[in-house]
Amino acid sequence: MGNKQNYTAKMELTKKHKLAAGLISDRFPKVAGIVLYMTYYQEGVNPILMLRTVNIFPTDSAYFKMECMTKGCIEGGFNLTTPIIDLIKKRKNAGKGELTCRGKHETRSSCRAKISYDIKIKYKK
Ligand SMILES: [Zn+2]
Repeated sequence: MGNKQNYTAKMELTKKHKLAAGLISDRFPKVAGIVLYMTYYQEGVNPILMLRTVNIFPTDSAYFKMECMTKGCIEGGFNLTTPIIDLIKKRKNAGKGELTCRGKHETRSSCRAKISYDIKIKYKK
């Protein structure tokens, strides 16, 4: 089981999910743009791993899975698809929450990294 093969399989799977989800502009034509503000946490003395802002455009896919940034994490990630689509369906402009990575880990039994997220959505007039 080579790493490269795993990586390729993962990329293929992500591509499939993205295709299946369709484009934001097709599924949610009222959405003008989405901004995600994320804080990545890890276990240890310096719990804040990084801050990240991601801009999502109507031309992007409606599948919002963010990579886990923890070293040694296997098949982890944070899927924001459901919280984002819920907000769009309720036509809300903002929402926040937390997610825990369900990935495995090279040296521990599981990854358990966390993010807190803040979603902002702009709609067309
Ligand atoms: Zn992880």
